[in-house]
Amino acid sequence: MHIIVIGSGIAGVCFAEKYGSLSRNDEITLITRENDGYYSRPLLSRGFSKNDIEQSIILKTFDKLRAGNITVYSGAEVTALNRSDKTVVVTGPDQEKILQYDILVLATGSSAFIPRPFRPYTGLFFCLNSLVDLKALRRFRLGLLNQNRKPDWGIIGGGLIGCEVTSDLAFSGDNVTLFHAMDRLMERQLATEDSALLLEVLQNSGVKVLLNQDVKEFARQEDKVCVKTGVTTEFDGLIVACGFKPRIGLAELAGLEIGRGIKVNQFMQTSDNAIYALGDVAELPNGKLYAFILPIRSQAHWLAGFLAGKEQSSWTPPVFTTKAKVHGFEAVHPYNL
Ligand SMILES: Cc1cc2nc3c(=O)[nH]c(=O)nc-3n(C[C@H](O)[C@H](O)[C@H](O)COP(=O)(O)OP(=O)(O)OC[C@H]3O[C@@H](n4cnc5c(N)ncnc54)[C@H](O)[C@@H]3O)c2cc1C
Repeated sequence: MHIIVIGSGIAGVCFAEKYGSLSRNDEITLITRENDGYYSRPLLSRGFSKNDIEQSIILKTFDKLRAGNITVYSGAEVTALNRSDKTVVVTGPDQEKILQYDILVLATGSSAFIPRPFRPYTGLFFCLNSLVDLKALRRFRLGLLNQNRKPDWGIIGGGLIGCEVTSDLAFSGDNVTLFHAMDRLMERQLATEDSALLLEVLQNSGVKVLLNQDVKEFARQEDKVCVKTGVTTEFDGLIVACGFKPRIGLAELAGLEIGRGIKVNQFMQTSDNAIYALGDVAELPNGKLYAFILPIRSQAHWLAGFLAGKEQSSWTPPVFTTKAKVHGFEAVHPYNL
């Protein structure tokens, strides 16, 4: 049997490794756009305070996965999925290939969500969703530091990732202003009391927090970028952190059932019984996306066991919690997930 996995995040890699260990005679191929190896996405938000992050974030090189009998196409993108003949089209750096699968696992993850009004300005801001994004941000910051300038950042979005990035930049010595649309930070995950505590921690680290902000547009002014609310404020750099968007494009074009993510049943199976989905991209029958490390690892290991015939019952989400990686902040109440 040939299993093709698309994506080298935690979902794709954990599945491929576990399945390989359970079913040694099958062929596993993993296809990924990434070039740097399998890395820890949560560590991206500590990407400024850790000098060796570009190396220490790598959990496993692709060569190490290859040594474990997984065929890896890196720097390659699956550009089409043909369900009738069970093939995928892989566009690599210098050639196109068509590969046939018996089982396909979509572990395509998510990209940063850009609110519609911001979309005309994508050249004016950064996001922090991948190692490529982090490297671009670090290069930009280093350019400012090399000119003896203290970087002045505007962060748009006071959710989990916005607060983490804000905290890490401030911890690293930069000026940071955080714009949030709501009247309290991380309102989806935190109790009101914890939002107030988080606000205090960020303010004490020198961050200017602006709540109830309606960011309307951005503009460039010489080497500055401007955020326009009622007033205009200038920054060296902007980061938009307004949530995530599951990468459903391939599945949608191939006619699979789609909601916010790729719809799966309790067996992580899509509307095509030869195709499964895992991780940020998978939407369970309860309408939930389990976009956190712990449940994704659980889904990946469960699916490997199921396809290897070691597991009969359906996937059930584990009990899990999370923690905002904000320097000096500990919530008193459990997070709402
Ligand atoms: C800054 C940040 C901090 C976070 N912190 C935490 C935390 O503290 N705790 C926690 O539990 N979770 C955290 N998360 C969420 C967690 O990292 C994600 O839920 C998880 O990494 C998703 O894994 P995944 O494998 O589903 O997707 P991804 O990690 O997005 O991997 C998908 C992969 O598929 C590849 N791909 C997509 N389409 C194609 C294609 N067509 N062809 C080839 N390759 C393709 C992508 O390039 C990518 O490598 C954080 C996320 C971010 C961005």
